[in-house]
Amino acid sequence: MANARRPIIAGNWKMFKTTDEATAFVETLWQKVQPHTSAQLPEIVICPPFTALASVKARITELKAPFMVSAQTMESRENGAYTGEISPLMLADLGIHWVVIGHSERRQYFNETDETVAQKTVAALKYGMTPIVCVGEQLLERENNLTDAVIEQQVRAILTQISAADLPRIVIAYEPVWAIGTGKVCEAPEANRVCALIRHFVSEYGDAKQTRILYGGSVKPDNTQALMSQSDIDGGLVGGASLEAESFFGIIEQACLVKA
Ligand code: PEP
Repeated sequence: MANARRPIIAGNWKMFKTTDEATAFVETLWQKVQPHTSAQLPEIVICPPFTALASVKARITELKAPFMVSAQTMESRENGAYTGEISPLMLADLGIHWVVIGHSERRQYFNETDETVAQKTVAALKYGMTPIVCVGEQLLERENNLTDAVIEQQVRAILTQISAADLPRIVIAYEPVWAIGTGKVCEAPEANRVCALIRHFVSEYGDAKQTRILYGGSVKPDNTQALMSQSDIDGGLVGGASLEAESFFGIIEQACLVKA
């Protein structure tokens, strides 16, 4: 990693794992990670479903494992008559300080828009949370040479709503939708080009050097090194390969090698 930004490897479990499965994963991952010193490690973020947040957090605290816990989404409002929603206040109450916002599945299946993604990002920052904000083009958009325009629109929708002081606190995940869960990874130079473009947009609003920009979309142990050795990719947001401790640790290990 050719910069001072600490890499992040985040595992998004989506709608998988019971509480027992989730805590068993934490234990297995910790056994694998423990021999590494924390200076070698990327920041490791686990994103369980809401139902497992408290038990994962508690197990991590007991083990003193250097893992962050993140929600996969949240509502932007603090409380109110919004049946089924979880607020930033509630997450903060559980000691959860990270949240994924605007994942393409949320945009696709739950009608999240650039506007609601921006509102949620602002709410996360207000509560001292680290938002991992997802952006990415669909296959048709890429095929029609619209990638850069789509990314610009999604990123500016967020950047116009936050202050320059918050730029080091946000994490942006470039996740081309066509690469999510498909096994079709974006080639590392192209992923880096888009991440550098995102950093360029960030730089128009303030200092972009500290903003961490991740790549997500079919990240596996065997493509981690190529992606992570790129200048503007500061880590990975991992879906499928984060469900097994073995493969998630494989990605962490490869990230460590790049950083070393
Ligand atoms: C994701 O869900 O954000 C993701 C990148 O999934 P996968 O790694 O399975 O492509």
